[in-house]
Amino acid sequence: MEKEYSLDPADWGEIRRLGHRMVDDMMDYLSTVRDRPAWVKMTETAAERLAQPLPQGPQDAADVYEDFLHSVLPYNKGNVHPRFWSWVEGGGTPFGMLADMLASGMNANVAIGDHAAMYVDLQVLDWSKEMFGFPPSASGMLTSGGSIANITALIVARNHFHAAVKRKGLRVVDGQMIVYGSSETHNCVAKGVEVIGIGSDNFRKVPVDENYRVRTDVLRAMIREDRETGHHPFCLIGNAGTVNTGAIDDLMELAAIAREEGLWYHIDGAFGAVPYILPAFRDKLKGLELADSLSFDFHKWLYMNYEVGCVLIRDGTVHRAAFSTSVNYLMQHERGLSAGPDSFTNYGMELSRGFKALKVWMLLKEHGLEKYAGLVRQNLDQAQYLGRLIEESEELELLADVSLNIVCYRWNPGKRGDRGTPSGAVAMEQEELNAVNKEILMRMHEEGVALPSYTLLNGRYAIRVAITNHRSRLEDFDALVAASVRISKNIHITQ
Ligand SMILES: *Cc1c(COP(=O)(O)O)cnc(C)c1O
Repeated sequence: MEKEYSLDPADWGEIRRLGHRMVDDMMDYLSTVRDRPAWVKMTETAAERLAQPLPQGPQDAADVYEDFLHSVLPYNKGNVHPRFWSWVEGGGTPFGMLADMLASGMNANVAIGDHAAMYVDLQVLDWSKEMFGFPPSASGMLTSGGSIANITALIVARNHFHAAVKRKGLRVVDGQMIVYGSSETHNCVAKGVEVIGIGSDNFRKVPVDENYRVRTDVLRAMIREDRETGHHPFCLIGNAGTVNTGAIDDLMELAAIAREEGLWYHIDGAFGAVPYILPAFRDKLKGLELADSLSFDFHKWLYMNYEVGCVLIRDGTVHRAAFSTSVNYLMQHERGLSAGPDSFTNYGMELSRGFKALKVWMLLKEHGLEKYAGLVRQNLDQAQYLGRLIEESEELELLADVSLNIVCYRWNPGKRGDRGTPSGAVAMEQEELNAVNKEILMRMHEEGVALPSYTLLNGRYAIRVAITNHRSRLEDFDALVAASVRISKNIHITQ
């Protein structure tokens, strides 16, 4: 008889010992992360070690793990580090890592069926509704992140505007459907508008005021003009925390406009919705609870391990109508494994889905919401602290209001003088400043001191610090300011 194979280990004792070692190694790695540089460039040798032919034969698991230890782990991105403030990324936690291990061990596919993971996922959605003031009748979906959360909401909005689009396509709509959002809206929304067939030309980028908040007067005028042209305004995006500066649109005013105009009101709160859990901050996010749909990420400002985001849809029936299908092989039964809660495939694009809900469920239980609220408050205070350090500095200049957790600044020794120089001179100076600040940022990364990122604000290169880090301390921001000034001394840009 032929030998029958499986992928399980021949020696369970051996894999168990290796597993214990991996847990020990990762706990050592995470508990000492502060002692290492924030970033180490991938070496050529390491890259070469990775570029191997497709393995045809087996290797020892322990050897494969050695490969990981030498070629992968040392060149981690750095978002576990206390001085990582690039883009908007969370740092994860040890318990979250363990939760992911358990989810992976169960290997639950959370799409359909009567099994615990379905109920845990629904529980996490219920907690999410409660966190953001959505009613129990709302529905939602855990996603890979804010991008898919936003696209999911856009699809619901589109199909809600005209139910026949689902079957007949956009041609049933007589005229052009239009989406509105500020010019600071995250790029994934424009991408979403592209993939749902509306086209990014039909995403109206409404100008912002000096604090990067949407100009509602211009928005009203744009809607009016589009209606006069025969277009169909159908969706309004509000920003709760823009990616560049953390600006929060006037969410109440947007809610009023959406109601008057009969528009779907979606809020992108990828990170900026999170301070809603702080009662003291709730006023600034007033209007969030009025949205038809809301996106936010657990993996950004709730510090959970990648990846997990969420979309909430106020009207669960409308959500289901946008995605529900009836195919024979997905039919639900009255009893047995094929019974259970409504399939998640009726609420989004994915069929197979991992058990992301487990880490959210375990982490919310481990820390409790109050602890998260405290950490969000700590990050908000740290942003104010850094803002003050920069204002007090002779050489560093704030480039935008610190309204949330994002600080944009640049090195500019002439910040206190030099106003009103002829425009030609200013342009030159701006170019030089941009080059110097870019160089400061790259050197800071290469030295492994700290990892802010960058953006352009009105043509000015800004070093951008987005604080969604539960490991940062005030001293880390002192170090950032000191490094910015120190590095600037060694840069000589020749024009
Ligand atoms: C990060 C971000 C997104 C995209 O979320 P992902 O989780 O990265 O997919 C969308 N909007 C805003 C405002 C963001 O900051």
